Amino acid sequence: MYQYIDGARVAGSAPDTGRIVDPSTGTVLAAPALASPADVDRAVDAARRAFPGWSRATPGDRSAVLTRAAELLSARAAELAAAETAETGKPIRLAREFDVPGSIDNVAFFAGAARQLEGKATAEYSADHTSSVRREPIGVVAAIAPWNYPLQMAVWKVLPAIAAGNTVVLKPAETTPTTALRLAETLTEAGLPPGVVNVLTGTGPTAGAALVAHPEVDVVSFTGSTAVGRLVMAAAATSGPKRTHLELGGKAPFLVHDDADLTAAVHGAVAGSLINGGQDCTAATRALVHRSRYAEFVDGVAELYRAVRIGPPADDATDLGSLISLAHRDRVAALVDRAGDHARIVTGGTVPGGELARGAYYPPTLVVDVTRESEIVRQEVFGPVLTVQPFDSDEEALRLANDTPYGLAASVWTRDVYRAAEATRRIAAGCVWVNDHIPIVSEMPHGGYRASGFGKDMSAYSFEEYTNVKHVMQDLTARDVKPWHRTVFTH
Ligand code: NAD
Repeated sequence: MYQYIDGARVAGSAPDTGRIVDPSTGTVLAAPALASPADVDRAVDAARRAFPGWSRATPGDRSAVLTRAAELLSARAAELAAAETAETGKPIRLAREFDVPGSIDNVAFFAGAARQLEGKATAEYSADHTSSVRREPIGVVAAIAPWNYPLQMAVWKVLPAIAAGNTVVLKPAETTPTTALRLAETLTEAGLPPGVVNVLTGTGPTAGAALVAHPEVDVVSFTGSTAVGRLVMAAAATSGPKRTHLELGGKAPFLVHDDADLTAAVHGAVAGSLINGGQDCTAATRALVHRSRYAEFVDGVAELYRAVRIGPPADDATDLGSLISLAHRDRVAALVDRAGDHARIVTGGTVPGGELARGAYYPPTLVVDVTRESEIVRQEVFGPVLTVQPFDSDEEALRLANDTPYGLAASVWTRDVYRAAEATRRIAAGCVWVNDHIPIVSEMPHGGYRASGFGKDMSAYSFEEYTNVKHVMQDLTARDVKPWHRTVFTH
């Protein structure tokens, strides 16, 4: 499998190849090149050369390319969804109805937003000068993406960067590069000049690390785990410092008050925890339920969890496909097994056998009687696992909601507008839903607080990550000796 550099498919410079595996069967799908530091140099060089031209293209010209790309991607939607499902094991319904249309909508959004970029002020803040603000692209962006939503994560990184006039070298996760490569090719077909978007297939420690540390990279935009995010931030600091944007892990609380519509909360918890096999940084992972509704909630979720259809990802009837790999499945299973020593597993918790034994399948798993210290309550599991904890007061609920290092997303379920308002104000997370959990829209920002990172994907807020703000101050007096000079010399 090729990489994509300077508008063309290229082989890797080293003979090494990786393995892309269908995690639901173990079948090897492709052997991608593993980018070497020399490939990283080549891609960054292409991006650097493309920068002057693309950064000077008018917003209208950039927008036209992105509009065309959205149309071309729409025509390829079925192919993209199939590739996404084959490489990740996610159910085809999710890829077809969420990942791919959401990604295309994002491309279309940035086609429009490219024309809205503006500096905010032009005014005489001093009587002797006109001040104005220019918003300028920064340069070459190193974008690093995870495997859970390969196309969507590639789009979230690449689109705001290029809409603002930057150029990009993207390294998707080594196991899921196909749709990122298709995105880059489609952009070229839509008229994007060569070198504006380059895609390297390769591992994190080799290609990713070389890319982050590259002296010609100006911005590092990373989505992935908090542990790797720390390494990336350190490398961006010592090799730059470079502008850094980190979208990291999550451990979203799901607060159910005593006045909540319990049927809605139960359905919301099942969908919110099982989306993408729970491999979603905003997935509902910690249900916090008022003690008076606790038993009812646990019974309701358990009943629906048992009814979930686990099966081949490409089958339209499948609700829960496979996880990303056997290694990841084993990690999820080990976390649940360890929790079982002191907590109660209501349903799930056993790796399926029979037909499903070949794949990385894991059942919906509900864990109760956990404590705030439990590893499974504090660590990101990234699987189809929900824990439930009771609370007795609104204060306790909010304290528990904020009781992990993460702060990416949360939801509150109540019919009381004042309770909802209090929760949305006090929960420290980049997104708080009221009576829902998961929906996203291109117009609104996505990003974390605390150990979930900083900076925003999606929406016009993402331009903050990919632009510099320049103050231009122009003298209006035409005097040789300005009044303020006397503060320095009086000659
Ligand atoms: P990961 O951190 O293992 O890898 C992410 C990317 O970083 C991959 O492309 C990987 O190759 C690369 N990488 C690894 N080591 C590197 C290094 N030393 N230098 C540079 N790059 C390196 O994460 P993952 O397992 O692919 O994805 C799951 C994680 O991503 C979860 O923690 C999840 O919460 C997080 N995530 C966050 C968001 C968000 O928006 N906050 C979205 C999706 C996923």
